[in-house]
Amino acid sequence: MPNAKPKPSLDADIAPFWEAAKKHEFVLMRCKKCGAWYFPAAYCRFHDNEPLFGNMEWAKASGRGKVFSYNVSYRAFNPAFAGDLPYVYALIELEEGPLISSNVTGCPVETVKVGMPVELVWEDNPDGYPLPKFRPD
Ligand SMILES: [Zn+2]
Repeated sequence: MPNAKPKPSLDADIAPFWEAAKKHEFVLMRCKKCGAWYFPAAYCRFHDNEPLFGNMEWAKASGRGKVFSYNVSYRAFNPAFAGDLPYVYALIELEEGPLISSNVTGCPVETVKVGMPVELVWEDNPDGYPLPKFRPD
């Protein structure tokens, strides 16, 4: 389909994230042994990980964080995003630790700053996979 926004990857290692997103649940991968959080899926770096992923689980996260880095797009790299201009593409440092790439919405693009507290807001999509976006908290 021309000018369609790309759809999320549904590889097995990230599918649980998108299944939770359908219910507006924000989950990250957490280590059952030590509680360390990861996103995307990873093995815990603090100890051995046998069996593979055996220590890891998807767990509900706060959805709160702060802007770690960002840029403002005034031109669309893909025509499907032209209607969104200008928009903020950002790395959000989540309260739990991991970084997630997303958009900052709900405020003028020039007001976004590094370190700004943000909270998750779900953006529903016609393809059935809500997208996690972030707005000023
Ligand atoms: Zn661990």
